[in-house]
Amino acid sequence: MKNLHNALLLKQLYQLKALGYQYTNTKPFSYDEQKPLELANSIENLKYQATHCHLCSLSKNRTNVIFGEGSEKATIMFIGDMPLEIEDKQGKIFLGRGGEMLTAIIEKVLKTSRNKVYITNLLKCKPSTSQEITETALHTCKAYLFKEIQLVKPKIIITLGEKPYHYLTGDTTALKKIRGVLIKKKNYTIIPTYHPTFLLKNPSLKKDVFLDLQQVKMLL
Ligand code: SF4
Repeated sequence: MKNLHNALLLKQLYQLKALGYQYTNTKPFSYDEQKPLELANSIENLKYQATHCHLCSLSKNRTNVIFGEGSEKATIMFIGDMPLEIEDKQGKIFLGRGGEMLTAIIEKVLKTSRNKVYITNLLKCKPSTSQEITETALHTCKAYLFKEIQLVKPKIIITLGEKPYHYLTGDTTALKKIRGVLIKKKNYTIIPTYHPTFLLKNPSLKKDVFLDLQQVKMLL
């Protein structure tokens, strides 16, 4: 949880700076090893925490915090990168044509329904510009994602696009090289594949996603 503490410390220092402080004797947020800051131990409470989160600058321009949804006991978890405008406005994850594509993949390839899997994003707040997708925001927000994984305990994680794979594993291999490879971790297997929004622009790659997800059936 050091990332979360560092983000809180940074936020407090920015607040003091905005108030006109150049130097401060005030002891801002301190890390208490005896009493560490904890994320909630239920999806409902974690969602509440995220909904009130101001740990990074993306909180300034969001309309809604887009938390994960679906079955809290899902065997399969999908992880996208970040909410889009339509999702920010309507307060739900994976809407629009990308959302329809993901639903079709779940229903037609995995032969299950959207509410039987768990769908989430690496970032919970919509960036307005690509400049807003900072390392700080991604590293801070991934604490929520890791807690969602810990609580849902999926057996298979399908990462959609490059960022979720990179931030989940720390491996920066290009997606086109790693997609479809089964990455075995202690508690789950990761299958990296393309993001549905990317497929809308590159429909010829749908067959690759189909092949990647065929492996889910073998793993179950
Ligand atoms: S993107 Fe994540 S860390 Fe940043 S404000 Fe939203 S919930 Fe908090």
